[in-house]
Amino acid sequence: MVYPVVEHFYTLQGEGYWAGKPAYFIRLGGCDVGCTWCDTQYSWRKEGWPKVTPEEILGWVRNTAAVHVVITGGEPTLHCLDALIAAFRSEGYFTQLETSGAYPPPTVLPDWITLSPKRFKLPHSAWYAHARELKVVIHARSDLDWAEAQMRLCRNDVHAFLQPEFYRPEALGWILEYIKLNPHWRLSLQWHRYLGIP
Ligand code: SF4
Repeated sequence: MVYPVVEHFYTLQGEGYWAGKPAYFIRLGGCDVGCTWCDTQYSWRKEGWPKVTPEEILGWVRNTAAVHVVITGGEPTLHCLDALIAAFRSEGYFTQLETSGAYPPPTVLPDWITLSPKRFKLPHSAWYAHARELKVVIHARSDLDWAEAQMRLCRNDVHAFLQPEFYRPEALGWILEYIKLNPHWRLSLQWHRYLGIP
């Protein structure tokens, strides 16, 4: 099994529950969800990236002090992730998967699933039982109602985050107001963008 790797880097997780945690990111190529405001459009292409084995990827991570690995995209579940997740698990890494849920979950589940559902292509229903974290990007005010409906599909102990779309400054105001009235949500900011790190 080989994976198309767009980029990989050791940095801090900038978003959601694990914000501030040092993490090794593996960004896989390919996404057909089509979010109009996507900040990683360069990763949509599925082909043309270096094809890398799980063992090679593990080698990159082993060269750092990372204990937390993030598999992201693109939409990483376009690929069969079983071999990659199993490789990380076999060496004791805490593995976080960031997904829109557009495709069914892998057979080998990671330690932590961050489900970031998109209105452009709805998640496969199997994700809701597995997601430990729900992260909804708010671009329009109506996204708040949609986020609430998504949360109702998740397990009771899900950690729920609303994140303003970076180039939509008014979204932050909507979220602050909404969270104070609906305290089961928390704010997620893209700290890496404010800090100027990958
Ligand atoms: S799912 Fe993620 S990578 Fe795909 S278009 Fe949406 S924001 Fe971009």
